[in-house]
Amino acid sequence: MTDLARQARELQLKFLLISFTDLFGIQRAKLVPASAIPAMARDGAGFAGFAAWLDLSPADGDVMAIPDPASLTPLPWQPEVGWVAAELVLAGMPMAQCPRRLLRRQLERAEALGYELRSGVEAEFFLLGADGGGIADPADHQEKPCYDQLALMRRYGLIGPLLEAMEQLGWGPYQADHEDANGQFEVNWTFAHALTTADRHAFFKVMVKTLAEQEGLKASFMAKPFAERTGNGCHTHLSLWGAAGTAGTGAATNLFHDPAGELGLSALAYQFLAGLLEHAPALCALTNPTVNSYRRLAAPPTTSGATWSPAGISYCGNNRTHMLRIPDDQRLELRLPDGSAHPYLLQAAILAAGLDGIERQLEPGPRHDNDNYAAPLGPEICPRLPADLGEALDAFAADTRLRQGLGEEFCQAYEHLRRRQWQRERGDISDAERLACLDS
Ligand code: GLU
Ligand code: MG
Repeated sequence: MTDLARQARELQLKFLLISFTDLFGIQRAKLVPASAIPAMARDGAGFAGFAAWLDLSPADGDVMAIPDPASLTPLPWQPEVGWVAAELVLAGMPMAQCPRRLLRRQLERAEALGYELRSGVEAEFFLLGADGGGIADPADHQEKPCYDQLALMRRYGLIGPLLEAMEQLGWGPYQADHEDANGQFEVNWTFAHALTTADRHAFFKVMVKTLAEQEGLKASFMAKPFAERTGNGCHTHLSLWGAAGTAGTGAATNLFHDPAGELGLSALAYQFLAGLLEHAPALCALTNPTVNSYRRLAAPPTTSGATWSPAGISYCGNNRTHMLRIPDDQRLELRLPDGSAHPYLLQAAILAAGLDGIERQLEPGPRHDNDNYAAPLGPEICPRLPADLGEALDAFAADTRLRQGLGEEFCQAYEHLRRRQWQRERGDISDAERLACLDS
């Protein structure tokens, strides 16, 4: 009996939800009865690739999604169903454009150098009315709504079960709050190995959306649902770990920490950081992947007073007005990604950029601790970020080192789909635009 079938029996699962995340971050799945698990564990569940965002044609054969038993997660709200992340195979070959495989490949690349990426994500989201049109709670209208206790507890029906579910799954949740925009929330869980975090991130989005639907709400992770409010960030916390030497205890050590280093961080951490700075424009195509993503970056102040999102490419100490923050002597925080970032591609791209910084021993230059909202640094010190998805895709097309790291086959498939989307959506004419220009 396969691992998966045995686990499924032990957990008394009736069904398996064999799931993969396509290139646009959409979660796709097949529901499989327990009796079919042994065959599915071996051969995978079949999908018509063209029907998802994978850059395939209707003439391609079946994409087989092979479940990874390590990711098996019983649905806390439906424990007879087990969610499992799968990786894609086409014509007997692993697919280069499978996001989870791409992340695993980057992790293997890091491992060959003696590093393990550990990461955490802060996946902010809005709770909207069921139709997604506006903020669900009419009483949630403070000018500075962050940490609003009453608005948070009015959502106890959702946030309580969410924390409980995460506790039960062993994720180590430690806080939930009302965020800086009306209708916006955040739930944090403990950082972990990057693949574990990516699986949890993918599952978290499914879980939040499902539990919100059960409450008659729509949860949205989109980057900037409302122009005048703070958007949804997906700040990513990063550290590289290594075994404590073969002669040592075997306990992993945080290689980003160095008490003698600037702000307590090692030369390795600064090289990683320098890689993120250098590749930031191209990285945006993956960390800020939608047309809407660019309404969050370099945006005007919100009604709450700040966007809290980066305006340019720079780093700082413990200061939230730059793209990269050094919150303490253990890690880096990349504040660039938004809620629409793909759970697996986000971390794969970050790791590829950071490893390039390490391999070339890049140095990031001086940090800047100014308030970059009140008195922004000039573009010669703090280069601007891509202004739209088109610019980000141009930077992605031109960044040969990042592409080499990620693999050209994946890059071509991804760029092709996103360019199509950009071409289609950039042509949209909104009601506001029509109104503004009607009499011109
Ligand atoms: N929502 C902000 C963003 O878009 C982040 C707020 C925070 O610092 O938590 O990045
Ligand atoms: Mg936040």
